[in-house]
Amino acid sequence: MRYSSSFGPVFLHGLCRILPPVFAVGLLPVVLGWGGGHDPLNEWAVSVFPEPVLAAVPETARAGIVRFSHAPDDFTPWEKQTRITIHPDDLAWLEAHGLKHPYSLHSPRGQAANFILLVRAFRAESPDRIAYWSACLLHTFADEAACNHDPILHVVTYAFREGYKLDMGPAGVLDFAQVSNSAEDREAIRAMLADYAPAPLAEDPQEALVQVMLLGLAANEYMTQRGARIARTFARSASAAAVADGRRALAELGVHAIRTGVDAIATARLLADRGTIPELTPAVEREFERRSQVFLARRPLASDAVFEGLLEPFGDGPAVGVLVEPSRSMDKAYLGFGSKLLSAAIMRSLRGAGISCRLVDIREPEFPAPERMPVAVVCAGGFHHPPTVERLRRYAGQGGRILLIGGEHRGVLGELSECLGKPADARLPVTPKYGQNNADYIADLRVHFTGGLEDSLGSEPCAFLRNPDTKAGWQKPRCDYVLTGENPHVQVLARLRDGERELDIAGLLTNPQGQTIGAFLPEYLLAPYLLTDSPPLDDPSRLELDRVGCTVLLHALGRMLPRP
Ligand SMILES: [Zn+2]
Repeated sequence: MRYSSSFGPVFLHGLCRILPPVFAVGLLPVVLGWGGGHDPLNEWAVSVFPEPVLAAVPETARAGIVRFSHAPDDFTPWEKQTRITIHPDDLAWLEAHGLKHPYSLHSPRGQAANFILLVRAFRAESPDRIAYWSACLLHTFADEAACNHDPILHVVTYAFREGYKLDMGPAGVLDFAQVSNSAEDREAIRAMLADYAPAPLAEDPQEALVQVMLLGLAANEYMTQRGARIARTFARSASAAAVADGRRALAELGVHAIRTGVDAIATARLLADRGTIPELTPAVEREFERRSQVFLARRPLASDAVFEGLLEPFGDGPAVGVLVEPSRSMDKAYLGFGSKLLSAAIMRSLRGAGISCRLVDIREPEFPAPERMPVAVVCAGGFHHPPTVERLRRYAGQGGRILLIGGEHRGVLGELSECLGKPADARLPVTPKYGQNNADYIADLRVHFTGGLEDSLGSEPCAFLRNPDTKAGWQKPRCDYVLTGENPHVQVLARLRDGERELDIAGLLTNPQGQTIGAFLPEYLLAPYLLTDSPPLDDPSRLELDRVGCTVLLHALGRMLPRP
């Protein structure tokens, strides 16, 4: 599987609906991109097929493009498919290229393979094969732009709605099927497609293949640019105009998938007519990798609408730096997938408290010096970014202070890192396993604030109002670390009580001069709406920390920021 989570266990791409058991493989909980939206998406695609493609797929075969719109969400080996018999030539080709089941078509390499099989199907003048491989290609392209892969909407979907059951605005939309049903919706989509003329991706077969592989990166950027507009449809205070705009943004995602999918299908037809069948060579894969790196290096933070309104530094003078990264594709992230939204919420809470702050793109070659950025806030997640680890070490060496929300810590907290460990038998609020949650013990856990936090949060232990260990989603606020080592310079801020057992879960590190130079906070203490409902969520596109998270953050920062 290419979609590894930031921590290691395999997470499959996005999800509106958990697959029925017939699709499941082993214990993997498979989750999908669009839900019912794949059907209208493929229907619309057929409606804008150019003449040469239509000529190759007679009316009777076109239904297959919709019938197989969900085909790639399936781990059943090709040779055991029951709804279709894969042609022996295609079976042999798939086997030769190591693609074992329809789900493998989701990766860029799988999309390239899918494209080649489509060219071969046109070449063989086989309408059923053309319909099947077109359906699959349209599906995986659409998944790349499915809005539940957006940093805000993913959390809305799997945490706020399905997991926490928060009271959200009734007009919220997530699936293309919700914005393509009514006559008015259909008219809007028709208008969006009115000027569309299918265009080949490239004349050269190998270049076309590279283009097919790159489409997912572009689709992800197109999608995350629209995340906030769609998220606003879930605001309880959303105006009719905001809801209409969000619905339009969601429809645009579908239309984007239709356009790119049909362009690719038209290209396959063109190449087949010319007898130029692309080959999936190491050179193609290398070129895709090279151009991916160029694309991602250039992708602006502004393309992630989760950072809307936060790109400009806030306040004067030295500013707290909040480290962030751009989205790439699906759940790929150097920090945590959930870090983008949590970092945005932190920025809003800092601004609300009047604290000078700025986003710091982890791609910046060097972080600002401590004189300009006295504290760096890192929502670390899996923390798979050695350059950031190195920069933070240098920054700390220069006197910079690090507030790390873990996740992993990679030793950047010095003595505080040395105190962190993973007790094997601890029952923690978030489990590493996907789809297997802690429902049997989360109600037993209590968080006890200390180290001065009890003054503002009370000394009564807090229960989790909601289970952070959602059954699905890439956003789980996982932290496996607790403070296990003894160090007189570490002050504990919170303890986790599990019956008689007590674990120190958050702490500050003080240097011999009495200055607080580091903080470790588990992500589940800051992730909103786990320990309190206050203040209630209105607009998820402008998420802030809740009262508990904000208090913990500001308490730690208050100790770390140099006194004027
Ligand atoms: Zn899919």
